[in-house]
Amino acid sequence: QAKAKGRDTLCFFDPVMQAALLASIHLERDLRQALVLHQWQLYYQLQVDINGNAIGAEALLRWQHPERGLVSPEEFIPLLESTGLISEVGAWVLEKACYQLALWAQNDQLCHLTMSVNISPLQFHDIEFIPHVKAIFNRSKAPLERLKLEVTESLFLEPDDNAHDKMLSLKALGVRFSLDDFGTGYSSLAYLAQLPLDQLKIDQTFVQQVLTSSANAAIVESTIVLAESLDLEIIAEGVETRAQQAWLLAHGCCAYQGYLFGRPVTLEEFEAQLAAA
Ligand code: C2E
Ligand code: MG
Ligand code: MG
Ligand code: MG
Repeated sequence: QAKAKGRDTLCFFDPVMQAALLASIHLERDLRQALVLHQWQLYYQLQVDINGNAIGAEALLRWQHPERGLVSPEEFIPLLESTGLISEVGAWVLEKACYQLALWAQNDQLCHLTMSVNISPLQFHDIEFIPHVKAIFNRSKAPLERLKLEVTESLFLEPDDNAHDKMLSLKALGVRFSLDDFGTGYSSLAYLAQLPLDQLKIDQTFVQQVLTSSANAAIVESTIVLAESLDLEIIAEGVETRAQQAWLLAHGCCAYQGYLFGRPVTLEEFEAQLAAA
């Protein structure tokens, strides 16, 4: 049959490839059930200021698979995107994070915390995105000025889209935008400077090498200067050592997220971390 289809047809008769294909088909089937079976979990990672005081959290999605255990987002986010499930799951993440932020707002000890939520470009470009988000905001009554939507440069790669307008319409509601993984994309600075952003998030690959790579140190330094001159907040992600934090502080970056301060944890563990601090 392979021959009949012609030479250009891909055939999975290689047993290794076939196993890989089957595995991804199974994963996709499991992915579709995950929402119904309540296998999604939201983890929270602490963000701190120069004194180590909590300033916010990043919500990070986890998939508790019955056989595989905790599956990494690096593995399932691309699959959610290719299957189109990302909008539904992304809406779940946003809703959960918004309700949590609304709860914190009622607690004197926690009402100052911000919540960062990752938004996939595909989710953002979905025509239902703005209506979904507005519905979630209305239901949750979250304090939107403390909600940060994390987008990546790839969001702005589509040539003739209206990402800019969409951002403005959400910003009109009070929401903030953070540019995640800054420095890993290909956008021009001239273009980035025009976007209605509030925060730059320095990517961890640069942060982790500020002391070992002068090139990466230079990138981080100029990112901090850029943020200052564009009047954007700055935060470093992936801070793992005191030395990295000291370097960042010396160069003017005063907000940090990384294993040094806490790994992503369940809500219970996150609130226990805050109470212990
Ligand atoms: P991200 O948004 O850049 O999130 C930061 C990632 O770095 C997280 O990985 C976090 O656990 C990890 N990290 C934080 N501090 C350190 C550190 O000190 N050292 C090291 N080695 N890693 C650190 P995670 O949770 O595996 O998420 C990976 C990526 O998956 C995220 O990168 C984000 O792009 C995506 N993702 C996670 N949750 C969601 C979600 O709800 N929606 C969407 N669209 N994407 C998500
Ligand atoms: Mg992020
Ligand atoms: Mg990041
Ligand atoms: Mg990243």
